Formats: sequence, C-alpha cells, structure tokens
Amino acid sequence: MRDPLSAKAPAVTCEQVAAWASAYLDDHVGDEEKVRVVLHLAACAGCDAYVKQIAAVGRMVAGLVRLDPPAPPCEQLRLAFTAKQTGRTG
Ligand SMILES: [Zn+2]
Repeated sequence: MRDPLSAKAPAVTCEQVAAWASAYLDDHVGDEEKVRVVLHLAACAGCDAYVKQIAAVGRMVAGLVRLDPPAPPCEQLRLAFTAKQTGRTG
C-alpha cells in the first residue's frame, strides 16, 4: 500500500528547510511545501531546533519593533528654522 502523501511530497533537504524557514514561520509557503517542511522537522532534530530558533528570534524582533522610538525633535528644528527665516534682516 502506497502512502499518497509521501508520494506527492518527496523529501526535502536540510538546505531547503533552512531556505524555507522564514517563509514557513510567516505562513508564506504553499500547503505542499508546508507539509514537506513539517514531515522533515518531524524526522530531523537539527532542522526542528533551527526552525524553533528562527521562531524565537522572530518573536524577539517583533517585541523590539513594538517599542516606541523616541520622537525626533521636529518641533524644535522647525522653530529654529522659522526663527532663522524671520530673523533675517534684509
Ligand atoms: Zn534537516
């Protein structure tokens, strides 16, 4: 008896899983690729650890991006610029 899933989704290499890791975590791979990656991760501890590491880094970066950067001193620059313009005697 043949397994239609494995026949349709041939094994991927570790290199392919590494290349797809980000897209896989962002859900940007097709269903077929996703199945291949999941099957590979189930059988390959190295890639499983790698993808989990990428996911952890992604969460960390997402947390950093949510921090509000300090506002640039636009108002002060504008006031200084205006003062320079209006202060000009001609
Ligand atoms: Zn692997």
